[in-house]
Amino acid sequence: MIAKRKIPFLIILPIYLILLSSFCLAGQEEVAVWIDNDPLKTETSPVLMNGRIFLPARDIVEALGGRITWFPALKLLNINLNNQEISVVIDVNEAEINGKKISLETAPMMIYNRVMIPIEIIQLLMEVETEWDSNSKELNIIRKRPFISSIRSYTHPDKTRIVIDVTEQTRYQVITLSNPDRIVVDLDASISKLKPEQKEILIDDSLVDKVRAGLFNPETVRVVLDLKSKYEYQVFELAAPQRVVVDIFMPQGQQAVIPEVIKDTTTKEPMEKEKIVVVIDPGHGGKDPGAIGVGGTKEKDVVLDIALKLKKLLQDNNITVYLTRDKDIDVPLENRPLVALQKEASIFISIHVNSILRKGSTSAGGIETYVLNSRYIGASAKDVADRENKASQYHNYEDDLLNQIIADLEESASINFSLDFADVVQRKLIQNSGLENRGVKQAPFIVLKGVNMAAVLIEVGFVSNPNEEKLLKTQEFRAKIAQALYQSVTEYMKNMPESI
Ligand SMILES: [Zn+2]
Repeated sequence: MIAKRKIPFLIILPIYLILLSSFCLAGQEEVAVWIDNDPLKTETSPVLMNGRIFLPARDIVEALGGRITWFPALKLLNINLNNQEISVVIDVNEAEINGKKISLETAPMMIYNRVMIPIEIIQLLMEVETEWDSNSKELNIIRKRPFISSIRSYTHPDKTRIVIDVTEQTRYQVITLSNPDRIVVDLDASISKLKPEQKEILIDDSLVDKVRAGLFNPETVRVVLDLKSKYEYQVFELAAPQRVVVDIFMPQGQQAVIPEVIKDTTTKEPMEKEKIVVVIDPGHGGKDPGAIGVGGTKEKDVVLDIALKLKKLLQDNNITVYLTRDKDIDVPLENRPLVALQKEASIFISIHVNSILRKGSTSAGGIETYVLNSRYIGASAKDVADRENKASQYHNYEDDLLNQIIADLEESASINFSLDFADVVQRKLIQNSGLENRGVKQAPFIVLKGVNMAAVLIEVGFVSNPNEEKLLKTQEFRAKIAQALYQSVTEYMKNMPESI
């Protein structure tokens, strides 16, 4: 019986092949498949059949970083992809995904004696976008993963900063390698939108030779910083826009030689306005009037008016803006930076009015801008911080906790960005108001704690100074301050990619 069956099989086989090939001509076409704009290498071509695309199961799953197990006797296929598991059976419109039964629109098939799966199965396991070109019969599968959009570098006297711009928050790991010295940042991201010239950037400053970016495995982009030697460094991430920053520090006592013309192979696109989120915090409010002038002017009213004027200026220019309060209400000090964090602000401005109530000090005047620090830097910084931190008796704070947060913040280096922003703010405020320049100072402010963006607290004039109190009452002065802050935001935005 066995021998007898063999013969008809051999005879039938060519007929079967003819039938198959004519069937191919009728309803089956070969398709080119791309993954994240790279061609998918397959042993058997993906095909378009009855309006559905079938992909060689092993090739596509492995290209996407998954695992596949095939049980021929059961015609069962187990696919592990993106931390999910699916079991499918050839010609069966039902699947089990993470132990749950679901129905499939299209069943997997055997074509050319290969296991082929519809794109639907991939879409069940991971978020992908598909682009189908019906003319060229090309399917591009784009993984919805963060893209590395650009890599930028800046040489500073004390450090070299490498910025990896990503479209979304992503996981990353950092390792160091020796001989030669390298810092390696592995990101769970895609490199397909990075311009070819950005995949290797020659830096050649005092610390870094070059930066290279390439696909380490289907899931991981590896960014390698080739160093001149072994240096201290830090890596941190920043939001709005999302980026991973690597700072490589100059050894103590050495200064970088900064080339006169900074080599710039990087893309310089100013930050898009739509991506900027500004949070304005008018100090005090409700039961807490803040400082009160001899003429009865309340800090809480002045700063709210300035904040509302600034809000309008920013909104008129398509910049997203939120206020921690837009009316005369109590807002706990601790909640104010949370607003900035929740809204993923790029810029946080807390607006206050200064006051010195000691006798004979009514002549003190001018404007100062503060940045959060664990230390007090600048004359009367401690007085101002004490007053603003304890402005409301309802909101006490614990020194230890505050210091801990500030220490973290210092490590995250956002103080540097805040100082950059503070310089701009202070300059604009003085230019616009004509008041005395009391400088940029630093102090531990509760209202600035925990923020990871450019954050400043400004003290716009002294309500304890009769002349300045008069000014603070006028619409004109308040408009000038709002204008100065608006200009600061736009100027900072313009320069942001170069400094961060
Ligand atoms: Zn205040």
